[in-house]
Amino acid sequence: MTARRLYYDDAFATEFTARVTSCEPALVPFSPVAKAPAWEVVLDQTAFYPTSGGQPHDVGKLGEANVIDVRDAEDEIIHTVDQPVELGEAKGCINWPRRFDHMQQHTGQHLLSAMFQERFGLPTVSFHLGSELCTIDLRGPEPSEEILEGAERAANQIIFENRPVNVRYGTADQLSQLGVRKEVERDGILRAIEIESADLQPCGGTHVQRTGQIGMLLVRRCTKVRQDWRVEFVCGRRAERFARRDFQLLQRLAEELRCAPEEVVAASERALTERDAHYKNVRALLQRLAEAEAAALQSTKVNANGIRVVARVFSEDTQEEYLAQLASQLAKFEKTVALLARSASGHVIFAQHPGAGKDLNALLKQTLQRFPGKGGGTPDFVRARLNENGHAEEAIAFAKRLISAA
Ligand SMILES: [Zn+2]
Repeated sequence: MTARRLYYDDAFATEFTARVTSCEPALVPFSPVAKAPAWEVVLDQTAFYPTSGGQPHDVGKLGEANVIDVRDAEDEIIHTVDQPVELGEAKGCINWPRRFDHMQQHTGQHLLSAMFQERFGLPTVSFHLGSELCTIDLRGPEPSEEILEGAERAANQIIFENRPVNVRYGTADQLSQLGVRKEVERDGILRAIEIESADLQPCGGTHVQRTGQIGMLLVRRCTKVRQDWRVEFVCGRRAERFARRDFQLLQRLAEELRCAPEEVVAASERALTERDAHYKNVRALLQRLAEAEAAALQSTKVNANGIRVVARVFSEDTQEEYLAQLASQLAKFEKTVALLARSASGHVIFAQHPGAGKDLNALLKQTLQRFPGKGGGTPDFVRARLNENGHAEEAIAFAKRLISAA
């Protein structure tokens, strides 16, 4: 027996009485409600909407049981519930805030798709109603900012005019003569939704009675998905929530940047320009500091076998990049070898003047055999990171002994 779909005739019915014709344990436990057992119920009539046509299912109560899923199975509608329901008469009640939200989004989709198609020649090829955002995929050339805004404004104009949303029945031919937006090849009587003087579209979903109940439609991002253009939008309470959240974000940004919300773009551009200038300045200063510090360290050199060794371990306020700059500066001095480390991170850098003629790769290898870590480089410049930060001091002393003895 085919269940009567009460929502076809009255999408605003939230409570109904039906006859339970079957209730069986579900073969698979309902997830994500961690492996809880579930039952599958069939009714002679129902106001519960099953997942279909891009619109998610309803939830609610059936007697004492919670309805957690509703799906179409050929001619039947299966209600998944969290406890068994007795055969015979039962009262059903759908979760209205969830359903009404779906009706706002879904009717808004009809309207938005109609505007894209009629005004800009962009047909909708698919629709998704998500828990946060809704999307339609448009086929054709990339919709410009003006087109996105134009479709949004046209849809909102029809919302403000509070036009009736009617349910029409007819054969495919009859609907075609009425100028249906999307032709369907199916026999028998079809159900179509008409937004007065704006759209006619075959659909088995639930819709509001007048466009004013959509409340407001807000178009958001448009991104390319395969060959199509995915347009994000929200309607009704969701539009209110998104607009509120966007403003809060803007407000917070403005507070951070210490400016008015309308000055956020200019203020962030200024802040980024300043940051880049500071960065350049710091780099130049570090370069000069490395030159000066290299000259000062040069005086601490130890002469060993005709080469000059500068060994030093730095504390945490020295960055690894500065260590490399300093090593390069030291390597400019005649026959000098620099053995530097950073105790906070275990970074080690060896560098030499080419005239010193040592193989720093070999020196690093020997050091890492004693104090494990990872690294490498050229015979004149190597860098590594020790596994244990605490070994930096000993590793430098070890390398210094090796190079002085060679
Ligand atoms: Zn629909």
